[in-house]
Amino acid sequence: MPELRKDPVIGRWVIIAMERGKRPMDFHSEPVTDDTGFCPFCEGHEDKTPPEIVAYRSNHHAANGPGWDVRVVPNKFPALRIEGEMGKAGVGMYDKMNGIGAHEVIIETPDHLKKFHMHTPESLSRVFEIYKNRLLDLNHDERFKYTLIFKNEGRLAGASLSHPHSQLIATPVTPKRVREELLGAKDYYNYKDRCVFCDIIREEMQQESRIIYENNGFVSFCPFASRFPFEIWILPKRHSPDFHSMAHDEIMLLSDTFIVVMKKLAAALNEPQYNFVLHTGPVRWARMGYWVTIDQDFHWHIEIMPKLTQVAGFEWGTGFYINPTVPEETARFLREVEV
Ligand SMILES: [Zn+2]
Ligand SMILES: [Zn+2]
Ligand SMILES: [Zn+2]
Repeated sequence: MPELRKDPVIGRWVIIAMERGKRPMDFHSEPVTDDTGFCPFCEGHEDKTPPEIVAYRSNHHAANGPGWDVRVVPNKFPALRIEGEMGKAGVGMYDKMNGIGAHEVIIETPDHLKKFHMHTPESLSRVFEIYKNRLLDLNHDERFKYTLIFKNEGRLAGASLSHPHSQLIATPVTPKRVREELLGAKDYYNYKDRCVFCDIIREEMQQESRIIYENNGFVSFCPFASRFPFEIWILPKRHSPDFHSMAHDEIMLLSDTFIVVMKKLAAALNEPQYNFVLHTGPVRWARMGYWVTIDQDFHWHIEIMPKLTQVAGFEWGTGFYINPTVPEETARFLREVEV
């Protein structure tokens, strides 16, 4: 029997369609052939990107030259522009504003072929330190309400360059999907006086069936109402609304969790294409009093979504998802993958 499952945060229903008979092992993907053309993100090509915003250079090399570990540059073809005013205006019954925002590229490594699962906790921690640096910095721009960090790995997932990189977009409005989550968490908190994500962590650790890996700081699991096969969430065990609140030892524990999860995915599915998003708290100082309880009710997290199925008409038309695999089976499958 198919099963309807409800996401406890935003109340979205998902159809777990067991009779479609997809077992976790049915998703092994074809390897993606790498492009061998010129790459503007490789070390030595620093002049082919806009000047860097910040970089992690362990050897104190000069900016915009070789000798970096992680490098952040403005997107050459930004979806939103950093310069300018908001220009809010009405056009009859419609509202509009200028496309102001930040769009940055985080080049995770000088090595063209070094995917996330090939990092050491030390090298990955530098990427996360840079995320933290950018989130803190953009929090000071009062035009922005939210900063999303995300990654598209592989062409199916939307990547146009194969060199390992993540992206960041800061927006002048709170994005709908983020807003739904913030409001869902707030509603739950108003009702139960507890953080919904802390409750999810407690429940997952008690039920155990959807857990993939955990250490002292983090837990990773396939969520109860997974939208996609192999959807994975990573949550810090310490309650905190903001990614940028992490101390270095927590960043190391996150790096360990992330690498284990990525290694398991790479081994189980033959390096699948995927998206990941970082859902951290919104910028709030400019709007005191709006998200009053957010320090208690929101809990930052990472969502990883391998690209194994297509979102089609029913999903677009309803916001419902049909997942042909059972999250408990997927989690068991991933737990058993040796890395
Ligand atoms: Zn490259
Ligand atoms: Zn919490
Ligand atoms: Zn989320």
